[in-house]
Amino acid sequence: MALLFRGVELGGSPRDILVEGDRIAAVGENLSGRPGVTARRGASSATVGRQAAQPEVIDCRGFAAFPTLVNAHAHSAMTLLRGAAEDLELETWLNTAIWPLEAKLKSEDIYWGTRLAALDMISTGTGFCHDMYLDPIAAARAARDSGMRFAINYALIDGMDEKKAAAQRTACEAFFADPPDFGPTVTFNLAAHSVYATCASSLRWLGDFGRERNLSLHVHLAETKFEVDSCRARTGMSPALYLDSLGFLGPKVFAAHALWLDEADRDLLAERGVRLVHNPASNMKLASGPAYDYAAAKRRGIVTLLGTDGSASNNGLDLFSDMKLAALLQKQAFGDPTRLPLAELVASATVLGHEAFGDGAGRLEPGAAADFILIDLSAPGMVPRHDLAANLVYAGGGGAVDTLVCAGKVLMRNRKIEGAGEVKAEAARRAASIMGR
Ligand SMILES: [Zn+2]
Repeated sequence: MALLFRGVELGGSPRDILVEGDRIAAVGENLSGRPGVTARRGASSATVGRQAAQPEVIDCRGFAAFPTLVNAHAHSAMTLLRGAAEDLELETWLNTAIWPLEAKLKSEDIYWGTRLAALDMISTGTGFCHDMYLDPIAAARAARDSGMRFAINYALIDGMDEKKAAAQRTACEAFFADPPDFGPTVTFNLAAHSVYATCASSLRWLGDFGRERNLSLHVHLAETKFEVDSCRARTGMSPALYLDSLGFLGPKVFAAHALWLDEADRDLLAERGVRLVHNPASNMKLASGPAYDYAAAKRRGIVTLLGTDGSASNNGLDLFSDMKLAALLQKQAFGDPTRLPLAELVASATVLGHEAFGDGAGRLEPGAAADFILIDLSAPGMVPRHDLAANLVYAGGGGAVDTLVCAGKVLMRNRKIEGAGEVKAEAARRAASIMGR
């Protein structure tokens, strides 16, 4: 059934958006539809069949349309560890708190943790998530059931154990020989955790395998001084140069954090066409390093995307909140209020991310994927509207998201998401049980 979003504010003017299937069919004024009929679930198939030629009309007066956000670096099922380890330094946080807890996770934990993450993201305007975590099948099942778009990583993390690394490569190859199908909104790609948790043999293999299969690669890069110092001590190279020496870097690589880069690293990353993912909340919370240097990346034409990182180091998944932190951090750390202006920040969290992952979304125009959010313009932070983007970023956009449409399906309307109660209850139950294991 086609949907007609009637009278939505788009670019400052009222417009109608017609959605057919998973695409935006038209954007204009007074598009035809059935006035006064609002979309509802459960219409009988006879009704749907008789009126199939006519779209259902959703009255959107008082709402503004905006593209869905792209969370380019997340560990979704870490929602179950939200608040479980606070005020620790990264290596201690990973070694004594996070990794021991993660060792106890079962497939169903990953499923419900990912469902909870999707709930958090949908309710705050994110429609696409690039997810690096354990058990890609459980995560993909949750991704499909949430309706959100997910790129799920098959991640190699071996703790520098060659035997484990070899077994993981074999399993990974078998997985991609016949990848499971979870529908058009869920894709699989590759990840290495980092240069300190993934063997050189696997980093080299991932570079080759990714190119061969045209799969993107995801990695944590230069997140801490420890990572850079230990990599230099071990290999004589910075993490970026080391990855490049193994043939890992290329235009389908997403490198998260990228705080401890020098000029040579940035030149190399630009030359290879690597995209960087900035995670301001996590970086500040774990005091991972100096502020991400957005301007140095931009000067070289490196694309910067935004991510929340996992819920144990953020702890929310509201990307509007990370957009605000990203902007404030640039301005404060570099003493320059003109840094990371709104238009560039919005592009980083929307169209550049959608382009990077190739889902066809990011622009509200005919032919584009039907992925957008509706902002409740009566929310206190959205009044007045001198600048909608400024309101969204600096005055709490996540809380003003009323509706989320992903691939033509309405996943949230009037801030209600189907099945939300069950997801929260089961995720809470599982989180409590992990602590007792
Ligand atoms: Zn991360």
